[in-house]
Amino acid sequence: MSVQVVSAAAAAKVPEVELKDLSPSEAEPQLGLSTAAVGAMSPPAGGGDPEAPAPAAERPPAPGPGSGPAAALSPAAGKVPQASAMKRSDPHHQHQRHRDGGEALVSPDGTVTEAPRTVKKQIQFADQKQEFNKRPTKIGRRSLSRSISQSSTDSYSSAASYTDSSDDETSPRDKQQKNSKGSSDFCVKNIKQAEFGRREIEIAEQEMPALMALRKRAQGEKPLAGAKIVGCTHITAQTAVLMETLGALGAQCRWAACNIYSTLNEVAAALAESGFPVFAWKGESEDDFWWCIDRCVNVEGWQPNMILDDGGDLTHWIYKKYPNMFKKIKGIVEESVTGVHRLYQLSKAGKLCVPAMNVNDSVTKQKFDNLYCCRESILDGLKRTTDMMFGGKQVVVCGYGEVGKGCCAALKAMGSIVYVTEIDPICALQACMDGFRLVKLNEVIRQVDIVITCTGNKNVVTREHLDRMKNSCIVCNMGHSNTEIDVASLRTPELTWERVRSQVDHVIWPDGKRIVLLAEGRLLNLSCSTVPTFVLSITATTQALALIELYNAPEGRYKQDVYLLPKKMDEYVASLHLPTFDAHLTELTDEQAKYLGLNKNGPFKPNYYRY
Ligand code: NAD
Repeated sequence: MSVQVVSAAAAAKVPEVELKDLSPSEAEPQLGLSTAAVGAMSPPAGGGDPEAPAPAAERPPAPGPGSGPAAALSPAAGKVPQASAMKRSDPHHQHQRHRDGGEALVSPDGTVTEAPRTVKKQIQFADQKQEFNKRPTKIGRRSLSRSISQSSTDSYSSAASYTDSSDDETSPRDKQQKNSKGSSDFCVKNIKQAEFGRREIEIAEQEMPALMALRKRAQGEKPLAGAKIVGCTHITAQTAVLMETLGALGAQCRWAACNIYSTLNEVAAALAESGFPVFAWKGESEDDFWWCIDRCVNVEGWQPNMILDDGGDLTHWIYKKYPNMFKKIKGIVEESVTGVHRLYQLSKAGKLCVPAMNVNDSVTKQKFDNLYCCRESILDGLKRTTDMMFGGKQVVVCGYGEVGKGCCAALKAMGSIVYVTEIDPICALQACMDGFRLVKLNEVIRQVDIVITCTGNKNVVTREHLDRMKNSCIVCNMGHSNTEIDVASLRTPELTWERVRSQVDHVIWPDGKRIVLLAEGRLLNLSCSTVPTFVLSITATTQALALIELYNAPEGRYKQDVYLLPKKMDEYVASLHLPTFDAHLTELTDEQAKYLGLNKNGPFKPNYYRY
């Protein structure tokens, strides 16, 4: 299994998303892709691409000045979209959804397996859902080739919906619906909800500046002209902004949901109303789930040539049912950990027949998912579940990686007294340098008001710790799955469980002491909070650029393997988000670029750089 990274040299030849002739006075940024950029994408005479992406280990040193592309990808070139064109507003999101889905189990040898899941799918309430990440939980009927990934059944807790699913029990499959243009090429809960959905999309647009910039930059240019994208993702307002952007860039899209619960019905309706063939509704059965996917790919007179997947179910379906379609498919863009692992498995088995882009591991996305998102959502999750005040509270955060750093920073800023536990001396030293007391959990367990795990490890908080906690101590997890807190050890006869609110349990000891367990030890933020649209904007922009890249790549640039987004494009995703903050990037002088051995337009860091 090899993770390949486009070589610096190859990256320099990557189809450039060129920000063309923007003077600072121009209000509307533009995207120059299909003339200069696509021209630059043509394979060199003689066929093939001598600088085709190489595995990371073979990556040559970064090109020196002048060896990069003519196209200016970097905002350093003074071509950043103007902030004025994309003013932020204060969206009062009430209907956001979390991203990602559950994951298959990946063993140390890289084998991906799925654990059994219950034979009959039950409709779950939001607070009964699995966290987004990585725990296999289901079997499912085996009438189909395999069970749907956990992302397909995971759901999202906090987002309300205008849609009251109880108001209409008729399956959307049994309804005859048409949009206002007379098209019936969609299947959603209720097309009449389109107007509500449109408002949600408009709110999301405010916090997705990069996609909006891509649309504006595209102007007449259509880097995705001719692209026929079949997508399978959560269908939320944020996805809608992505789909409409892909449409503006020239693509035709057909879409299904990657999760049977997460579809925002009104958003699906808005998309259908504006002409997108969307097949999704909240509360699909497993049969519906696959039916919707099939309706996206099995169409008279239309064949996809690109796949955008989240969890790998769509990709799997095409492999299983329509393998010939891969003859026309130029690439797969995959977002989730599960889907990426599946792709690596296919690649390892020599069965991956098209190039695939691993969006999940792009630097920008990872930073936003782990550090910045958790920095915000830890407070939101705690507040929503407990209404607590943070000032003066004693908190211990286990693990000072990206997630732990985010949690600590947020709580410190709120006036909490924060202790950190770590096993790694480097992260431990970082915690010390950031002003946190590094302790062993045992040393503080009796005194703390809140315990937060963020290690990705198991049994970090044991029954012994739980026994020693003080009355009313809040216990929660922000790390991988529900392994970090030994919740199972609390299911003993002498302890009483009281569900006090959605996602909040009091576990009561015989002497009356109680601890407050949040989300039964599953990821707090994904169970009890929302993911900010801005975080999803990073992911969506990365997806869009990965699609553009794969779609426009000349023959031979990408082999049948799994690739990371070229660093330069990762940088570009970040640059597209800078105008939101009226941020002004410094441009390297020629002399400086030469001194550092960099191309003025990036990439600015080697692939091994740790941000
Ligand atoms: P990371 O590897 O950067 O950090 C984890 C840290 O925990 C490491 O520094 C490690 O040394 C430390 N650690 C491991 N075992 C420990 C123990 N027993 N006691 C104390 N410290 C210990 O990983 P990360 O990016 O911070 O992610 C942490 C977890 O959070 C992962 O499981 C990840 O999947 C998950 N995650 C959650 C969210 C979310 O939204 N809640 C987002 C991204 C990632």
